[in-house]
Amino acid sequence: MRKFIIMGIQGSGKGTQAKLLADDLDLEHFSVGDTFRWNVQHHTKLGAQVKRIMASGWLVDDALVEAVVRERLADHDWNFGFVIDGFPRTARQAEFFLESYDIDGVINLDLPDEEVTRRVLSRRLCQECGMDYNLIAHRPSREGVCDICQGNLVARADDNPTALAARMKDYHEETKPLIAIFERKECVATIDATRSVEEVQARIRERFGLPPLKSA
Ligand SMILES: [Zn+2]
Repeated sequence: MRKFIIMGIQGSGKGTQAKLLADDLDLEHFSVGDTFRWNVQHHTKLGAQVKRIMASGWLVDDALVEAVVRERLADHDWNFGFVIDGFPRTARQAEFFLESYDIDGVINLDLPDEEVTRRVLSRRLCQECGMDYNLIAHRPSREGVCDICQGNLVARADDNPTALAARMKDYHEETKPLIAIFERKECVATIDATRSVEEVQARIRERFGLPPLKSA
């Protein structure tokens, strides 16, 4: 059984790396954020609860996150293990989680703030069809125009330097104590996320003695 926690700021490629790792090794990729979004979209009881909290301008609290994770992991559909993303969020959750689930390792995708800024501020979104573009890695063939539907490409409202700086600060403040706990338990692998997707994946696997990614 292989059990991993993956951490990384937005723009670090966390979702991509978790998926690559999970697909090939038959692990469950369990993203807390995706679970909340799914529940909101499908109008579940949990979704209603999350919506209520967010409508009142609060953040989803740690207790609710913890309940969702417990419930999800109690499903036992992860025969070969899991990669969890978005949990733990507090020092207390981290201690508890490491003990109760016998975690193999924590993958910490490390990306300097300048690179986060460069990547995030180059994101564009089609106003019509919602297609994502990136002016570094996935440029539209005509500037400002969607390749698929000719819609207008815009930056997300919260992808501006001020909002991003605040998010980066929050991220560092929240994750520092967690990383310290993981380092004490000697299970954290900090990986340089400025490298290509393939290189980052290869390094993760090297660090934990996993078989190399099967090329598609
Ligand atoms: Zn479009």
